[in-house]
Amino acid sequence: MSDLERIVVVGASLAGLRAAQAIRDEGFTGDLSLVGAEPHLPYNRPPLSKNVLTGDDDVTLPGDDRLGATWVGGRRAVRLATTERTVVLDDGRELPYDGLVIATGARPRRLPEDQMALAGVHVLRTIDDAKALRSALREEPGQVVVVGGGFIGGEVASTVRALGKDVTLIDSRELPMDGVVGETVAGWLAAHHRRNGVELISGLRVTALEPKATDATRVGAVRLSDGRSIPADLVVAALGVEPDTDWLDGSGLELDGGVRTDARLFALGESRIVAAGDVVRWPHGLFEDELVRIEHWANANEQGTLAGRNLLRGPADAEPYAAVPGLGTRVHGVRVQWAGFPRLADQSMIVAGSVEDSKFAVAFARRGTLVGAATVAFPRELNRLRAAIASAEAVPVSA
Ligand SMILES: Cc1cc2nc3c(=O)[nH]c(=O)nc-3n(C[C@H](O)[C@H](O)[C@H](O)COP(=O)(O)OP(=O)(O)OC[C@H]3O[C@@H](n4cnc5c(N)ncnc54)[C@H](O)[C@@H]3O)c2cc1C
Repeated sequence: MSDLERIVVVGASLAGLRAAQAIRDEGFTGDLSLVGAEPHLPYNRPPLSKNVLTGDDDVTLPGDDRLGATWVGGRRAVRLATTERTVVLDDGRELPYDGLVIATGARPRRLPEDQMALAGVHVLRTIDDAKALRSALREEPGQVVVVGGGFIGGEVASTVRALGKDVTLIDSRELPMDGVVGETVAGWLAAHHRRNGVELISGLRVTALEPKATDATRVGAVRLSDGRSIPADLVVAALGVEPDTDWLDGSGLELDGGVRTDARLFALGESRIVAAGDVVRWPHGLFEDELVRIEHWANANEQGTLAGRNLLRGPADAEPYAAVPGLGTRVHGVRVQWAGFPRLADQSMIVAGSVEDSKFAVAFARRGTLVGAATVAFPRELNRLRAAIASAEAVPVSA
């Protein structure tokens, strides 16, 4: 779009950074501002639940020093006025734009604030969260409890065990992660946690965090939905995330489980506003336009780049985003990966390896077409299946 002179990127993390880089790569020479609520330059989050907790602080994201952008750090956008084309910041400043990138990602779900305020209760989304959790782990806590057995909760439990500490992992599902990786991999994962010394409590909800009897300001226990109380000196609330869209309330943009965009990442009805990363919900062309929101690194990385490029080119010349999502995690030293959408499947089967060997691949199909894959210690199979999903391959998968 040739009339763009001022572009504002809100959200200074992976997707925002990649969008800004793409905007410059497309030849944009006008004013570019990058607004981030955190006081840090963009950094990489995946190490936060892994190496950072064990002492390695490298969270570098390459490429943030050649942008020629105005960096507005430690400031939150609080309002978007689409008619005036202005972003309003929490210090009252107004940033006018001709083009806008929304990349405000996601924030952790929380337990009630009076319980979150107890000393010893943590979430894990930012580098500051990770450093606070690391310090707490170094203070030799007695009993560590992770609430939520999703991939971040599982990684934290695994890292805590690697540090030689006891940990209890609590999840409300009978099989944590089954909605993401399917029952076979989720069943293996639950057994794998237990084999590695994690006390896994599944099928029960946490109803409250309770203070210590001796110190009402510190967490002392976790109350479960069956009435039991589990002692806890340190609690990590890993309850998943929700898209960070509050600042867009009243803007007129469609917000429905994220910022709703078209397949080319333009906010619905807008030709000057794109969105990218964890905050976006868009129709995925490879999966019958299923509306999806993805919380993975590669998605934010690639969508950020495409959103920036599409904004510069304009809707008529923009490309749709239809990459197969995928994520890998390492749990107690074993690589677990998944791709596509196992949850959409009506059939699944093990296509390589065996559960007994802790090395296997599961394919997921919907009406005979591959829609998902999940693997344990089998990166080669994951790559093969992911490529097959991308080409919408029909596969002989039986239940
Ligand atoms: C501990 C952890 C481990 C992870 N491990 C993996 C992994 O192994 N593999 C994988 O694929 N993915 C992993 N992820 C997920 C991956 O990091 C995210 O998908 C990715 O960070 C999303 O990037 P994003 O730029 O869309 O959003 P975010 O990284 O959430 O960044 C959004 C930014 O916008 C800022 N912001 C929000 N609202 C405003 C506002 N109103 N004004 C200004 N700024 C605002 C936020 O402060 C934040 O800095 C992990 C995430 C975490 C937290």
